[in-house]
Amino acid sequence: RPIDRHSTVYVAGHRGLVGSAIWRRLRGEGFTDLVGRSHDELDLKDRSAVFEFFRSERPDVVVLAAAKVGGIMANNTYPVDFISDNLQVQVNVLDAALEYGVERLLFLGSTCIYPKLAEQPIREDALLTGLLEPTNDAYAIAKIAGILQVQAVRRQYGRPWISAMPTNLYGPEDNFSPMTSHVLPALIRRYEEARLTDSPTVVNWGSGTPMREFLHVDDMAAACLHLLDTYDGPQQVNVGTGKDQSIKEIACLVAEAVGFHGATEWDTSKPDGTPRKLIDVSTLIGSGWEPQIGLREGLESTVAWFRENVTALR
Ligand code: GDP
Repeated sequence: RPIDRHSTVYVAGHRGLVGSAIWRRLRGEGFTDLVGRSHDELDLKDRSAVFEFFRSERPDVVVLAAAKVGGIMANNTYPVDFISDNLQVQVNVLDAALEYGVERLLFLGSTCIYPKLAEQPIREDALLTGLLEPTNDAYAIAKIAGILQVQAVRRQYGRPWISAMPTNLYGPEDNFSPMTSHVLPALIRRYEEARLTDSPTVVNWGSGTPMREFLHVDDMAAACLHLLDTYDGPQQVNVGTGKDQSIKEIACLVAEAVGFHGATEWDTSKPDGTPRKLIDVSTLIGSGWEPQIGLREGLESTVAWFRENVTALR
């Protein structure tokens, strides 16, 4: 049953890449009662503050898009933060949502929850069938725990809570810091800086051979609302395009979108991460949704957003 547009919807993480896109989408779809709190207003690691917030706001619907996220280097360097912060945040929000009667909840994870060597394209039922990619295993374990907690609430209390696992996302409001970002924002920034300084060469990380799938975050937000309106099942749902490209190809597309005409080199002392993580999106497509924003178009608008916001990046 579609979500009532007058429901009180709490978007946890509404300032982030995913949460801000979901917020825009909900507004665009006519939702009138959205609730968000910045990190300064509500620390989701503070359990009693989270419970107090739920007690006073009483949301009907929760979208859990708050998480400590980062690219390959951040995950590989700070695994304690990625497992501990994410477990604390999600346990607090999920427990409070259970306590205060939240009927509908969407938990967001990532496709790094799947085994490193899973059969491609990766189906939802590949979860917990093999070893994880070590550069982001701490983050992945936290997200797997979240999926299990959502399934447990459904089993023990019968609440129709669901989980979605988006592929690599990009778009406005992303983190563009070179050391902690994911690959697309890192490349946009690096190629743009090289263009502005007339630098002849850009050096990217790793071999450039890993394959990655990218989805524009506005498509992801549309998919999330589609799932909230239509999906009711214990299994997490993959959210992506079902198509991937090598990091080398991605780098060419970014150079083109930015207008950089120099050379690209690869620093193989930096990690590659998992060789490939193309997901099977037949569950989502079968439910009647498909992405609208192609990679070229999405990159162009993200480059434009970056140029407009370069002085005020988070
Ligand atoms: P992953 O998908 O979890 O591996 O995370 P990332 O988005 O951080 O990295 C994806 C791929 O892009 C990896 O193979 C990286 O080695 C490669 N890559 C190339 N240049 C960069 C860069 O400047 N930053 C990041 N984060 N990754 C890069």
